[in-house]
Amino acid sequence: MPFVSAKNQKSSYDVIVVGSGAAGGQSAYTLCMDGAKVLMLEAGRKYSPETETPMFQTPDLAPLGAESTPDKPFGFYDATVGGGWEVPGEPYVSASAEDAGRFDWWRARMLGGRTNHWGRISLRDGPYDFKPFTRDGLGQDWPISYEDLAPYYDKVELLIGVYGSNEGLENTPNSAPGCLLPPPKPLVSDLLVAQRAKRLGIPVIPGHRAVLTQPLDYRRSPARLHPGNATAQKIIAEDMRNRAACLWATPCGRGCSIRANYQSTTVHLPPALASGNLDIRTDAMVYEVTLGRDGRANGVSFVDRTSGKQQHVRARVVILAASACESVRILLNSKSAQFPQGLANSSGKVGRYLMDTVGSSVSGQIPLLESLPPLNEDAADGQQMYVPWWLYQDQHAGKLKFARGYHIEFGGGKRIPGYGTAAGLEWLTGGSYGAKFKQDVRRYYGSFVWFSGRGEMIPNDQSFCEIDPKVKDKWGIPVLRFHWRWSEHELRQAVHMQTTFTDIIHAMGGRTQGPVQTDGAKAIAPGGSIIHEVGGAIMGSDPKSSVTNPWCQTWDVDNLFLTDGAVFASNADKNPTLTIMALAWRAADHVLERMRRKEL
Ligand SMILES: Cc1cc2nc3c(=O)[nH]c(=O)nc-3n(C[C@H](O)[C@H](O)[C@H](O)COP(=O)(O)OP(=O)(O)OC[C@H]3O[C@@H](n4cnc5c(N)ncnc54)[C@H](O)[C@@H]3O)c2cc1C
Ligand code: SF4
Repeated sequence: MPFVSAKNQKSSYDVIVVGSGAAGGQSAYTLCMDGAKVLMLEAGRKYSPETETPMFQTPDLAPLGAESTPDKPFGFYDATVGGGWEVPGEPYVSASAEDAGRFDWWRARMLGGRTNHWGRISLRDGPYDFKPFTRDGLGQDWPISYEDLAPYYDKVELLIGVYGSNEGLENTPNSAPGCLLPPPKPLVSDLLVAQRAKRLGIPVIPGHRAVLTQPLDYRRSPARLHPGNATAQKIIAEDMRNRAACLWATPCGRGCSIRANYQSTTVHLPPALASGNLDIRTDAMVYEVTLGRDGRANGVSFVDRTSGKQQHVRARVVILAASACESVRILLNSKSAQFPQGLANSSGKVGRYLMDTVGSSVSGQIPLLESLPPLNEDAADGQQMYVPWWLYQDQHAGKLKFARGYHIEFGGGKRIPGYGTAAGLEWLTGGSYGAKFKQDVRRYYGSFVWFSGRGEMIPNDQSFCEIDPKVKDKWGIPVLRFHWRWSEHELRQAVHMQTTFTDIIHAMGGRTQGPVQTDGAKAIAPGGSIIHEVGGAIMGSDPKSSVTNPWCQTWDVDNLFLTDGAVFASNADKNPTLTIMALAWRAADHVLERMRRKEL
């Protein structure tokens, strides 16, 4: 009985996992494949990628040509069927009305969370990224090193399927042999970017995305994933056989009903359910972790969103994986005589060191790419290639005015046209109509490129979240209030991005579209808007200055774990989700081991 309701849910489980996205999916998968009885509580609705994914629908079939609207900001067909920048009846508060203090919060409310439509860019953090303080004296080190996480990166890549290549570049780790799938072919525009960037000394290498460029190796990988566990190997071998390779034609943000890319709903949950060890309760909004007299977590309380009723369920272990800020909110709302400032908050650090990714973009038009013959260039829907940070040595030698690096995501080509595809050509044509307009569209379509920087933010004391004393959501649960500030390091980094992207566009013989910003405050995207928010319950080696130990286990409550981005002690330029999954697998292994030893 995998999907349960109030009627058939058991009263107690080995482990409760709150949230079903990357963190919750990975936690539940690892635990269930090793025999733990798990209840997953998910605030959003049930969602079936097989039947609900509009893979092949064309824009003309949708209202407003499938263009974005306030309730579907990524377009009508986007996979997010619940949640977004605004969640009706579930507000949050910004402490500052100024742009500089702005924090935007994207929340999914559906089974699988944001993994149904995320960009699938899956980069490993490198050795430097775990020890940033040691390297430059800013921020804080993680209590673990790259070597501690490397075996788990290998496992996650093998399980979910990530394409890419091993290039041996500085702080850009190689995967173990056989972990990566071959990368897809680059677009014509990618090849031009690579050629011209190289002339500037900027390396362009194959991207890493969680997309199957070929079927998974269901004969060899199961034994590497679950050594000594024949049952788990059988389940995952069968599941891998049922995942098809990419057909290179449909936008991944709508989801993938053939299971060729990673979504928690298509990769983690099916085998976990097949193990018979997972119960899932959707529409369950958790608001509190409850404590027993012994000071240990004994379960969680939640609101059933369909009935509005409050319920409680018990477990030996509680794992919060509701996304960084939601997990922090649950901790801060779980007050008791023992923890008047919120659960596991004896350090006062819950909510602190909130981080996002530095983002800045420049687009350009490239005459060399005009009037190309029609090509089937739908490709992998993003990141065939990318630029890893390449200035580690210059930065370490003090030659740059900011402390941490960024990688470059870029794109071009001829995607499926929408209503806006031929709009805004006047800056090139001076304005045209009729037959001339059609000629112009044919000439310019496919000649545009864009570059986006994704950079490291250093944690600071001014960027944090707390419970707002007045505002509650429609369930009566107090909401978060955000405080946000970029430092000069991030602002200068954003300007460096603008200059670099402009240089590459010029090296391609092109021209930039719109102003190139030299003011960091204008160059940088608002806090939270890159949707890589992490921190808020950081891991460390000292209970006085961190919330969890190196196993994602809270210092204060032995059987309470956090496996989402809340535990990140820094936020490297690499997109966070692969690291979230690797940490979640490692934490779940630790839980299993301690349960076996009867310590939990
Ligand atoms: C458009 C977009 C593109 C992205 N692209 C990339 C990318 O290319 N690479 C990358 O690394 N990252 C990317 N990300 C970020 C990535 O999606 C997140 O890092 C990742 O999903 C985080 O996993 P999570 O499990 O912590 O949170 P989520 O995936 O958000 O899952 C959390 C789940 O918990 C549920 N939940 C929340 N509160 C509660 C509660 N109180 N009770 C019960 N359940 C609750 C939510 O409904 C949700 O289903 C992108 C995100 C977006 C939106
Ligand atoms: S491009 Fe490939 S991975 Fe993406 S949705 Fe289409 S088939 Fe799936």
